[in-house]
Amino acid sequence: MGVTFSLRKGGATGPRLGELTTPHGRVATPVFMPVGTQGSVKACSAEDLQDHKVSMILANTYHLYLRPGHRRIERLGGLHRFMNWPGPLLTDSGGYQVYSMGELRKISEEGVLFHSHLDGSKHSFTPEGVVEIQQALGSDIAMVLDECTAYPATYEEAREGMERTLRWARRSRDAWGGDGVALFGIVQGGVYPDLRKACAEELAGIGFAGFAVGGLGVGERKDECLSVLEWMEELLPSSFPRYLMGMGTPEDVVAAVARGIDMFDCVLPTRNGRNGTLFTQHGRIRIKNSRYAEDLLPIDPGCDCYTCRNYTRAYVRHLFMAKELLAYRLTSIHNLYFYQVLMERIRQAIQSDTFPAFSESFLNRLGSEDEGMGRQCRGENELRDTGVLGRRLEKGSDKIQA
Ligand SMILES: [Zn+2]
Repeated sequence: MGVTFSLRKGGATGPRLGELTTPHGRVATPVFMPVGTQGSVKACSAEDLQDHKVSMILANTYHLYLRPGHRRIERLGGLHRFMNWPGPLLTDSGGYQVYSMGELRKISEEGVLFHSHLDGSKHSFTPEGVVEIQQALGSDIAMVLDECTAYPATYEEAREGMERTLRWARRSRDAWGGDGVALFGIVQGGVYPDLRKACAEELAGIGFAGFAVGGLGVGERKDECLSVLEWMEELLPSSFPRYLMGMGTPEDVVAAVARGIDMFDCVLPTRNGRNGTLFTQHGRIRIKNSRYAEDLLPIDPGCDCYTCRNYTRAYVRHLFMAKELLAYRLTSIHNLYFYQVLMERIRQAIQSDTFPAFSESFLNRLGSEDEGMGRQCRGENELRDTGVLGRRLEKGSDKIQA
């Protein structure tokens, strides 16, 4: 059984309501997927996620391939069972993580050669191999291996990357086989409209179960990012799900939903939670600030997550000051729930034809004190969090993202 998408409201352009049907359940779109990099959404159990309206999550192929290994996960019954997550799972192709490695990887027509950030060992990802890894993991939705175009890139560089992405997409599609498969294509082409157009048209011709917009959130300006999304509205087949990879401040999500995007993932809610930056209906708060030392309110008085039902700002701040591990769980739960409630409100607003008014009042209330568009992408910082080569990785990715 594959994955199907039904568009319930909206069309090629503007906000859309839909439903994804997968072997592990149905998902209302637009949907936000928390990132479970290593088969775990950091600091949260699968039960925490289920208790807080999370319907679908993302896991990183790169990390699970290296540790504990996709074959081991397969022997243990697949990733769903391994991590006790009963809902739909999307896996990325690992292309973005490898791309972030800078000098530690080498791209050829065959695939990508790279060194593990864990022990420096050599590995290669090919379009066919990456499909096989995701099949072994048992993903509901798998992504093709792509070549993420750097920013800035010349037209020629972007064209070469886009054309290779297309050749790899065909190989991935052939490796997967069959019709109606849950394999998504990824549109590249940098900030060049004709390259994006050519890529989207070719991918539609090859045939995928959905289409992702890749290569954004890599340092481009906000207006450039929005332009790419606006071209995509016209170009991507309207009856398939559209996925904006790795970007997701609340402001990004609202702006991209307005431009026809159905699916999101980002490490932002959990990473910000661990840093003590918390989302509320009235803007972000930094819980470590001394002003919260004796504050008996919950993080957000309007929130009914586990954390806000049971704990005060004063206590959560104390946990941070004392470096208690519970801080990470409580804040991650709150931030994840904030996103799920945001998506619910977005869907209600689309349903009742009030999305433009919702969007305006939401953005006014939230303010925009930090995190510009695309500065908080999935992937590169997850690599920095881990392993002996972290610093080398950081050096390499900064070079690309500068
Ligand atoms: Zn809360």
